[in-house]
Amino acid sequence: MVMLKIPKRIGRLDELANNLWWSWHEEARNVFRMLDYPLWRINGHNPVKQLCDVSEKTLQAAANDQSFLTCYDSVMSLFDAYLASSNTWGIINFPELSNGPIAYFSMEYAIQNSLPIYAGGLGILAGDICKEASDLGLPLVAVGFIYPQGYFHQNISEDGWQQEIYQQLIFEESPIERVFSTEGNPVITKVQLGNDLLSIGVWKVQVGRTKLYLLDTNLEENPAHYRQLSSRLYVADREVRIQQEIILGIGGVRILRTLGITPSIWHSNEGHTAFMMLERIREEIANGKLFEEAKKNIQRTTVFTTHTPILAGHDIFPTSLMDQYFKEYQNSLCIDRKTFLQLGQQDKNTSQPFNMTILAIKLADKRCAVSQLHGEITRKMWRGLWPDTPENQVPISHITNGIHVPTWIAPELLHLLNKYLGEDWIKEHDNIALWDNIQNIPDNELWETRQLLKRKLVAMILDRAQKRWISGEVTAHQVLVMGALLDPAVLTIAFTRRFTEYKRPSLIFTDIARLKRIINNQWRPVQIIFAGKSHPADFPSKYLLQHVYALAKDRDFQGRIAFIEDYDMHMSRYLVHGTDLWLNNPHRLREACGTSGMKAALNGSLHLSICDGWWCEGYNGSNGWTIGNSVNLANSDEQDKADAESLYHLLEEEIIPLYYTRDRNGVPHGWIRMIKEAMRTITPIFSARRMLKEYAENMYIPASQSLKKKV
Ligand SMILES: *Cc1c(COP(=O)(O)O)cnc(C)c1O
Repeated sequence: MVMLKIPKRIGRLDELANNLWWSWHEEARNVFRMLDYPLWRINGHNPVKQLCDVSEKTLQAAANDQSFLTCYDSVMSLFDAYLASSNTWGIINFPELSNGPIAYFSMEYAIQNSLPIYAGGLGILAGDICKEASDLGLPLVAVGFIYPQGYFHQNISEDGWQQEIYQQLIFEESPIERVFSTEGNPVITKVQLGNDLLSIGVWKVQVGRTKLYLLDTNLEENPAHYRQLSSRLYVADREVRIQQEIILGIGGVRILRTLGITPSIWHSNEGHTAFMMLERIREEIANGKLFEEAKKNIQRTTVFTTHTPILAGHDIFPTSLMDQYFKEYQNSLCIDRKTFLQLGQQDKNTSQPFNMTILAIKLADKRCAVSQLHGEITRKMWRGLWPDTPENQVPISHITNGIHVPTWIAPELLHLLNKYLGEDWIKEHDNIALWDNIQNIPDNELWETRQLLKRKLVAMILDRAQKRWISGEVTAHQVLVMGALLDPAVLTIAFTRRFTEYKRPSLIFTDIARLKRIINNQWRPVQIIFAGKSHPADFPSKYLLQHVYALAKDRDFQGRIAFIEDYDMHMSRYLVHGTDLWLNNPHRLREACGTSGMKAALNGSLHLSICDGWWCEGYNGSNGWTIGNSVNLANSDEQDKADAESLYHLLEEEIIPLYYTRDRNGVPHGWIRMIKEAMRTITPIFSARRMLKEYAENMYIPASQSLKKKV
């Protein structure tokens, strides 16, 4: 990462590239675009790689180009002002947190595409929290894993079968650096894993003001089979999973200690990370406390967010694995096997598997679900842990998730809003009153921006299809399904998310003849874009993907159904910016929150969704559409049928007519009214800013105050 060739005048490009602040500041991205646009495209918008590859001649030219220098200077002063700012919301409102940051633990993080260490919504949330904590000036240190092979890239064969391709991350070309001690040695901590004492190294990713530390087991001194332990995300093997979770939980605490960081609050994002709580009990005991007292002490400063509304989705380990990996460890907690196992069990029956969610619920005083509805489901699910408490008083609250607005808004739209909401609107985007000004945007201007974004989306899809065609690896049929016949003038629906059964990706194909009539209507045509990955070990969902792919190939659909390969954050941005309608049709009560619909609404893509997750709170009758109702049928086939009927009905009777009702200039005023209503009512509320403020006020601060009282 040392780039000696950078001329002094623009010498801080290196520093800028290595702080992911650039990923949500268009001005900063523009500096790298300007430097060498083709390279920027080729390198997938990764400035670190760009600085590795750019020629010395280009750098010299930039250092002498006045317009580049103006841009560079202004970005560097923005960057410096951002990092130096001392009047942030966090510092003003919660000065007590400056004594010790919030330690945030998560198995995955989605910060930017050059770091493929995420699989889906959980990682997106964690990444958005890091960025928002930085913007708010809330001291937060994040801990996770570096997965050098990350999550897989997806190709789809001609018969619709998902192929998983793992690429090795090249550290030198990524915005990541190994952490060294002041003496210049790599920082290392040790964790006992079965019979082996494993060394764990650490990498740092700078996300604005937030530091993200990623643990790594690929060190020379480790046994060969453990060096690959952290290479991939979400392996199916339970034993590898418990090893990973031990490293993240226990190793994560030890790394923070080694780095001299003393968090005042510990936040566990989903049960995967809950061993972190055990390690802190162990520390207290090593300092002379008894188990019960140690447990009470750490509970006070622990926050837990649960994300899973179905029992089968929780992380569990057989007691045999727990025995194997925690035999020694439980001695250091000074408790017997039974007491230990019951930390992860609901009843007094010690043969039950060890449940990481239960562990986290028992060891965190502050617990929450991720939407109002998910809060209700979660209280019902775990009421057995509080047998004497009425269900509505089970002490698990909710904080509805939100998205990091600067990351997810299209720059074109941001500029338009600058004009009508005020130049500084992005700095106070959670101010609800500000959004009333959206009425001042002339319909045709908003419509032009929306059309531009859709053309960019279609152009991106065509570009990919062409590249695959030129590579000679794919057939004409495949290129067709890749979206070669998509048309930016047509009403475009997106169904793009993780492929898994409960999300029901094939629901819209329930009545194929009816769907054909909808799609092929000569005057009011519709096209649908699918994208999403199946978990490599989830065969039912891979078959489901194959089924959808086969349907998209049907020539009768005239190439208006596309399946785009390799859904990731980068493609997700194009999709939420450019589609007209965002379709979400899970089995009700299965989607804990969902966030992709919020990203869509922010950009003026309207939400058509089951009343589940955040949409139960978000829908107000005129900012999108709700499929079906809130009654759950006992028979799931009946439910699918009823939901599909409602979906078709909404499309045929409301959505398509509204979209195609135009004035003489082709502007759909009714549709635009709905877009404005969606942006106004959804953006300020379903933002990471509102979410993190709630965490600070309701979860972090009460926890830090109870700590103070104790002292
Ligand atoms: C936003 C996002 C998600 C989460 O989407 P849901 O539809 O809410 O599950 C998953 N993957 C990517 C790449 C995203 O950008």
